[in-house]
Amino acid sequence: MKDTIYTIPVTDAFKSADECPFCYIKRKLEQDAISFILGSAYMEDDIRMTTDEVGFCSDHFKKMYDYGNRLGNALILHTHFIKLQKELKEKVEAFNPTKASMFAKLKRPKTVDDTTGNVVSNWAKEKTHSCYICDSYNKNFTRYIGTFFYLIESNEEFRALFKESKGFCLPHFGEIMALADTQLNDKYKPEFYATLFELMQENFKRIEEDLSWFIDKYDYRNKDADWKTSKDAIPRAMQKLGSIYVQDPPFKEK
Ligand SMILES: [Zn+2]
Ligand SMILES: [Zn+2]
Repeated sequence: MKDTIYTIPVTDAFKSADECPFCYIKRKLEQDAISFILGSAYMEDDIRMTTDEVGFCSDHFKKMYDYGNRLGNALILHTHFIKLQKELKEKVEAFNPTKASMFAKLKRPKTVDDTTGNVVSNWAKEKTHSCYICDSYNKNFTRYIGTFFYLIESNEEFRALFKESKGFCLPHFGEIMALADTQLNDKYKPEFYATLFELMQENFKRIEEDLSWFIDKYDYRNKDADWKTSKDAIPRAMQKLGSIYVQDPPFKEK
């Protein structure tokens, strides 16, 4: 295994005592991707062709804006708009309104996602759901999950580190569960699943108790009582459920 490039960040993340080691890795990969694209990569033709094509999600537009480099942002947006206008023209020309049948009118969609869509709506949906930054860190991210399984299978010390961790956030727990069945060697599955499920349940309980004490602290009788580990219960609980560091200041250009 190509040790170090992947194993070191995974080991570091598990040593960080974060509510989720994979959130910790994701944040680093995301910041690297933002500094990369707004550093100087946007000046390279092939990369710009990709950003023109793929665009960015709303979350990453906000993070790019916060990062700084106004000229870089403007240049990226400008050529993206040129590309979008070309595509829009093609889609508009290919669009033919369908005659709505009585049946289709009666069958009202519950949400916009329920509709089958048409050439224009599908295009708009595709454009708003693709993101250069999401793509670039997702590609690396699955490698880190693979490295995690590799370390579980091969490294006793790492298995101990995993057992002492705080488990994972709900989204990353779901991703690990989706991959473990096919990627992890059968031999390690019983112990792995037992540890994982125990960690998740223990740590959900811990967060729930932190929140409970946080609430009790509002009782005037507990005014002078110790906060214990509850002071930052809200941001940690939000990370545990939403894979987000709500207290992070905006990531900015140095
Ligand atoms: Zn996470
Ligand atoms: Zn994105």
